[in-house]
Amino acid sequence: MLHPIRKQIRVRGIVQGVGFRPFVYNLARSLGLTGYVLNSSAGVLIEVEGDPARIECFVRELKENPPPLADVEGISTAPLELAGDTTFSIHESLDQPGELAPVSPDVSTCPECLSDFQTPGNRRFGYPFTNCTNCGPRYTITRMIPYDRPLTTMACFPMCDQCLREYEDPSNRRFHAQPNACPDCGPSLSLSVETSDPQLHHARQLLRQGRILAIKGLGGFHLVCDPFNDATVRLLRQRKKRSDKPFALMVADVASAERLCFISDAERMALTSIRRPIVILTARCLEGGDAPVSEAVAPGNNTLGVMLPYTPLHHLLFRESLEAAPEFSALVMTSGNLSEEPIVTGNREAALRLHSIADAFLFHNRDIHTRVDDSVARVFASQERVLRRSRGYAPHPVTLSFPVAEILACGAELKNTFCLTKDHHAFLSQHIGDLENYETLVFYRETLDRMKQLFRIAPTAVAYDLHPQYLSTKLALEMTDLQQIGVQHHHAHIASCMAENGIAGKVIGVAFDGTGFGTDGKIWGGEFLVADFAGFERRGHFRYIALAGGDTAVREPWRLALSYLLDTFGGQLDSLDLPLLQRVPPKKVATVRSMIERRINTVETSAAGRLFDAVASMAGVRDEVNFEAQAAIELEACALAGVDDRYPFEVTGDQIDVRPMIERIVRDALAGTPVGWISAAFHNTVAAIIVEVCSRLRSAEGLDRVCLSGGTFQNVYLVERAVAALRANGFEVFLHARVPPNDGGISLGQAVIANNALQS
Ligand SMILES: [Zn+2]
Ligand SMILES: [Zn+2]
Repeated sequence: MLHPIRKQIRVRGIVQGVGFRPFVYNLARSLGLTGYVLNSSAGVLIEVEGDPARIECFVRELKENPPPLADVEGISTAPLELAGDTTFSIHESLDQPGELAPVSPDVSTCPECLSDFQTPGNRRFGYPFTNCTNCGPRYTITRMIPYDRPLTTMACFPMCDQCLREYEDPSNRRFHAQPNACPDCGPSLSLSVETSDPQLHHARQLLRQGRILAIKGLGGFHLVCDPFNDATVRLLRQRKKRSDKPFALMVADVASAERLCFISDAERMALTSIRRPIVILTARCLEGGDAPVSEAVAPGNNTLGVMLPYTPLHHLLFRESLEAAPEFSALVMTSGNLSEEPIVTGNREAALRLHSIADAFLFHNRDIHTRVDDSVARVFASQERVLRRSRGYAPHPVTLSFPVAEILACGAELKNTFCLTKDHHAFLSQHIGDLENYETLVFYRETLDRMKQLFRIAPTAVAYDLHPQYLSTKLALEMTDLQQIGVQHHHAHIASCMAENGIAGKVIGVAFDGTGFGTDGKIWGGEFLVADFAGFERRGHFRYIALAGGDTAVREPWRLALSYLLDTFGGQLDSLDLPLLQRVPPKKVATVRSMIERRINTVETSAAGRLFDAVASMAGVRDEVNFEAQAAIELEACALAGVDDRYPFEVTGDQIDVRPMIERIVRDALAGTPVGWISAAFHNTVAAIIVEVCSRLRSAEGLDRVCLSGGTFQNVYLVERAVAALRANGFEVFLHARVPPNDGGISLGQAVIANNALQS
């Protein structure tokens, strides 16, 4: 060696708990370099000594070929004095207060572990907690950083000699795999009912008999039953107090998914990705056919939410022997909770809260420190798009194209997530849920405390929604020691889309959703903004209509239909013989009509979501809903393919007037036009409105970038139509992909707007 040198190398990003140190160790040894590697709370720290060309090669490999789960954000090097090491070694973890080290999300079982677990004779054959450096629990078991076994919920399982040898051997796949375990030393299962059979065998038997099981998983309990048993699925709905909201399915394998659903290549990739989200797929057939799941799994839907097994335990639920064909091709796997409460994580908590739902419990004794629900994704506009960002995604940060202050953004009311920012990172919490009950609020506070600690963020400012009644807003306003920054709901949606796509400057923002507090005190939700991070102008919106009875109106779309009908026909409404007015009791209609006409207990709204509700009711799809957006989802589900017609509308100044469309829809409904045709023409009209208003704004402002955000843009029919039409008209269109378009993504927008306010 001519002139050896020594360098310090810092690697930032997701580099802990992903096999990075053994990779570095083996790389250094193969290049004949000496020195050491260690995990610090700021990432991985390396010192190498040796030939300069080999060190250059070493750094290049770190950048270009890191382990599959690593996400290297940056590598910096600095020269050091020679130290004369004779070997390369792995040192103890080092904690640097104030420094930030992202924690890896939980990862589904890797192919090697699956093979260990499926190979007779392997010491982990059939062991439900098999994992390695490339897979297994992470965020859900991490109490503190740095990510080391004593700081996880695996601390109480001392490793046996064999596991310890793997753990200490840098050439082993389980080197420093913090959750490493085997049947001799690791966590184990226990079934709540007495049986002389093996526990899993008995659990499967119970499922086959139509029982409902509560099964502890990775981020919480699932309620599990046989989706082909109609009576059981209906019983689960009844016990869970859940009327129509779809249940997710776990399928044994991709072939089983294909028997139930149509799967494109992009959907297959989403299904089999290491994140293993629930993927919304088009159902082949919900009733009849060769693989009929109960209609009660997803009432009124033409889609099914499907995921693949992501822990070894899941694989065991499906089959007796790992070589045998699965006993079930699918299982209902819904969050273990009561209606909208947070998912249950503790064994005792489960026994207490789920005893009225589950016939038996399958527990295990590895504690879940952080509750994390299953994520939901859907492929549209040719890409996987996250609709609920939780397991497998959280707490992986969204990387921003600019540095940000330490800020807490509290999110909205429904589908809540909050967001903490620091450096170039936006850490979105896992899905917290609807902030409408005490348990969810406790979950919110608990997760906030933990994430602040885990990512060492001490916010100086708090961003919140302008809606005075949101619990998230009330929480923010209690934080009087922080600078408080209110952010308009739809501005936040657009900023979230901009931040995710790494764009800045003015854009045309189309924010369509069900509800959001406007600066005029009215309920917005059909908004065209000219916006940047600094502010927005409201340049277009649906004409206001009356929402009679507040929240009741949201549950009863027929009230919206009546509002639109009165707005369109006025007194002439009486001369129309509308089926809608016959379905609802006349007394109710009269009361609501008088409320609307006299503006009693009404608020005005421009929300697109409410227009979808109204049209769903007018078309006869649904007059009442029991979960958010149900009417809109069913209206979309029935839209006929191949219809290009649309209805008329008018744009005057900043107002979009859909009365010409309502008139035609009523005429079509009375003439017996198929609902699917009305639905398609209605969706086409909304897409045409988007293009028309954006075109006007382009003429006025010279802007051609359009951001689409808000819950309405989960509507695949609408998004695909609108995007195609906008692109055909020369617009550059930005959608969400990694951050939900619904209120689950809004905290990101709040944070970047607040950051902008702090800097100006
Ligand atoms: Zn593995
Ligand atoms: Zn062991």
